[in-house]
Amino acid sequence: MPDLLPRARSSQESVFARMSRLAAQHGAVNLGQGFPSGAPPAFLLEAARRAVGTADQYAPPAGLPALRDALGADLGVDGADIVVTTGATEAMGLLAQALYGPDDEVLMLEPVFDIYLPQARLAGATPVTVPLRLTAEGGWTLDLDELRAAVTPRTRALLLNSPHNPTGRVLTREELEAVVTLARQHDLWLISDEVYDELYFEERPTSLRALAPERTFTVGSAGKRLEATGWRVGWVACPPGQAGPVAALRQLASFCAPTPFQVAVAAALPLARQSGFYEGLREGYAARLHLLARGLRDLGAEVFLPGGTYFLMARRPGWEAEVLVEQAGVAVIPGEAFAPSQALPPGLLRLAFCKSAGELEEALARLERFCRSPASHE
Ligand code: GLN
Repeated sequence: MPDLLPRARSSQESVFARMSRLAAQHGAVNLGQGFPSGAPPAFLLEAARRAVGTADQYAPPAGLPALRDALGADLGVDGADIVVTTGATEAMGLLAQALYGPDDEVLMLEPVFDIYLPQARLAGATPVTVPLRLTAEGGWTLDLDELRAAVTPRTRALLLNSPHNPTGRVLTREELEAVVTLARQHDLWLISDEVYDELYFEERPTSLRALAPERTFTVGSAGKRLEATGWRVGWVACPPGQAGPVAALRQLASFCAPTPFQVAVAAALPLARQSGFYEGLREGYAARLHLLARGLRDLGAEVFLPGGTYFLMARRPGWEAEVLVEQAGVAVIPGEAFAPSQALPPGLLRLAFCKSAGELEEALARLERFCRSPASHE
């Protein structure tokens, strides 16, 4: 029997799947993988119930026209520039295939979301990371000179993620303007992973596309916006004229995203916008962020507040992801999972607060018990 290729053999279970598995195994409160523990909004569920049984066959690979139009209206772009994907993960993989290949380099920020590196490598390209550094004040800085210095004649694309997973950092308009200047100077594609676009705690984040529509591919996620991460409905808003080839390439993966969920998301997007759903979401998340942050600080942890996303980073001597899931009964993600090539300050953990207040309180109570136990002092 021939061997699987090295790229298959060296692929590993994702840290998120692994921590969810360990959480289930140890009966832990799961503050690891980022998915909400509550139900999606009723208007989304009702729309899906109506769609199942009436919209059950393939959709066009680029997406149902109704969904492309709804997304176009929501994002302020032409629906013809949208390609609907099976989750934002597929969108990112698709762009890796479409935009870079052997001999190309792609720049991205580190800490880095786990899929970006292997997706670039599968496309044959070399990912090059530029650090976001934790400052003494607990913020994350991007050194624009360092970013400029990382561009080589082989650089083909720059991949940004704002609000940023795992740090929660929101890139400022000034930073994005500098990125656009750099991209124009070197004729780079821009990939902007904006799946947390509606989850922010200060000013609304600037969308990169607004500054460079001619070269920006914006990735979004209905799962993140509408609290249904398992539905696998994501999208790419392409620069004008690029959606056709991207959709053609997209047929080769899952062909189309699940049709009934596309129908439901098309119906839900305008309702979410008009009904103030996102404002409510942010308020709910801000409250849970502060509940968790306060509780962690009371336990002596250092907490790094996010500007967006539903994650915060924290650290405390004696806390390690592997130990917490087994001995405290709380699953989190180790910071190192996002920093394969440069050292992060030791002991950073990512905690998801897209869970109920009850679960957050239970997690804090378990952490408190763990802090008092001899195990935490070993
Ligand atoms: N985005 C999610 C997180 O950061 C995980 C996505 C996944 O597991 N595919 O937790």
